[in-house]
Amino acid sequence: MVWPGAGASTAVAVPGVRLAPGDVLVRVELSTVCPIDVRMAQGGESAAPPLVLGHEAVGVIEAFGEGGARSSAGKKLSLGQRVVWAREVPCRHCAQCRRGDPGACVAAVRYGHERMRRGFELSGVFASHIHLRAGTAIVPVPRDAPAAVLAPANCTGALAIAALEATAETGPIAGAILVVDGADLLALTALAMAKDAGATVIARSTDAEARVRALNWGADAAAVPGAHPDSPLSLEWAIRGLARRSADHRVLALDEHGHALPRHLELAAGYLADSWHRHPFGAVVAEPLPLAQVDRAVALAATPDAPLRVAVTP
Ligand SMILES: [Zn+2]
Ligand SMILES: [Zn+2]
Repeated sequence: MVWPGAGASTAVAVPGVRLAPGDVLVRVELSTVCPIDVRMAQGGESAAPPLVLGHEAVGVIEAFGEGGARSSAGKKLSLGQRVVWAREVPCRHCAQCRRGDPGACVAAVRYGHERMRRGFELSGVFASHIHLRAGTAIVPVPRDAPAAVLAPANCTGALAIAALEATAETGPIAGAILVVDGADLLALTALAMAKDAGATVIARSTDAEARVRALNWGADAAAVPGAHPDSPLSLEWAIRGLARRSADHRVLALDEHGHALPRHLELAAGYLADSWHRHPFGAVVAEPLPLAQVDRAVALAATPDAPLRVAVTP
């Protein structure tokens, strides 16, 4: 489904996809609409249409370029394997990539953001298939985990892992008091991971509904940013209420535009495949809409009462 930049998306057939060595063609099983897709459709993110939107998905390997491909962990991938993949691919040639800092690559291919061009039409996941370029971190996932839980692994999942890893560099997570801002899927994913890692979590939001949602996801307390320290809604009050000797707390830095490394995706996929029994990851994703209704799905995701993720299935 090609998004023209304004107006309705149109279905386009892409016959004869050519896969270069290392490329992988994946049949999309299910994709989810990220807030980034919503803002792109609204003109709030830089984009050069026409393009295929969407970067969060799970799918099944349907074809390989010459020589096959390997997972991010170096294992040979096979046809029919169920996988998730990184939302961007570093170029491997720019100064940042050569310096060993692919997260800062200035020429990365970003799925769901690439202007449609001959030979790389299937560049987003709001499509029946996606053309994964050589060098994309690909991670096999188990069959039994729900697709709706796995689809955001490369975005909110990997970014939450990266945020926790950065926080762990300043001290242990287990036993710490962590403040998580907001209650979108990225924040709730980080909240669940932090709780499972043994942290005490305070959710902070100006939105009462978001605070309730975070508490339902296992936050130990909730607070309103900027509330007076004597107010029961303040962070200070929440920390006192936790009756802890130490009031040290750290704020988890979440950035939906951040960069995740292959190991973050591997850890996120493993975490989601294992934790959906314990946390309501599946419940925050709406019943999927058919791919032909992708515009409706993006519009629905933009409404204030939207579920945290609207899903699309070919
Ligand atoms: Zn996303
Ligand atoms: Zn690069």
